[in-house]
Amino acid sequence: MSDYIILCDFDGTITLQDTCVPILEQFAVGDWEKYDKLLSKGLINLHECMQRQFEMIQVNIPTIISSMGSIPIRPGFADFVSFCLSQGINVVIASAGLDFIIRSVLSQNNLDLPVVAAKVKDERFQLEFPSLYYPDSIDFKVDQVKYYQVRQKKVIFIGDGISDLQGAMQADLVFAVKNSFLNSHFENCFTSFLEVKENLMKLFNFKTNLK
Ligand SMILES: [Mg+2]
Repeated sequence: MSDYIILCDFDGTITLQDTCVPILEQFAVGDWEKYDKLLSKGLINLHECMQRQFEMIQVNIPTIISSMGSIPIRPGFADFVSFCLSQGINVVIASAGLDFIIRSVLSQNNLDLPVVAAKVKDERFQLEFPSLYYPDSIDFKVDQVKYYQVRQKKVIFIGDGISDLQGAMQADLVFAVKNSFLNSHFENCFTSFLEVKENLMKLFNFKTNLK
């Protein structure tokens, strides 16, 4: 197996559009956007932001899934996943979205990848977040990065949004969606996953030449 692992955000990174925002816009009752502002000011953490927003939803999961339609994914992603797996690099999705939405979109696109994301526990949209391996982790994305680093993996983090910031700061290498929030903090950027693949190929060739 490779020394590397990919932790990849989902909304706005694998998908071109956020999948949660339209659902909150359509089904949440109340001012869910205020929690994004509190998160961006550091007044609440990612888990609290998500819980407060999703518990405003007043419909059930089947209603949400049937409202989703087909969700396109970013060009090059399937090819990128094949490349990583061929190099022995696992690709794990770490998402601040919801598990059932992510699995539905992956299934639409004939993809099957490990997903670390919150699950919905009951009809009132109480969320069960991924367990933290390290209690001092501010959120589960940074916790996942630490988990693999402790196991001697170099973590390549790919993302776009504010929920990726803590994980990206802890990671060994970061790729940010071009012109995204994360791109304002990390300069390696991309539009198509083929660009990430090309960057990784250069990185691995460089390592091979050193041997
Ligand atoms: Mg995102």
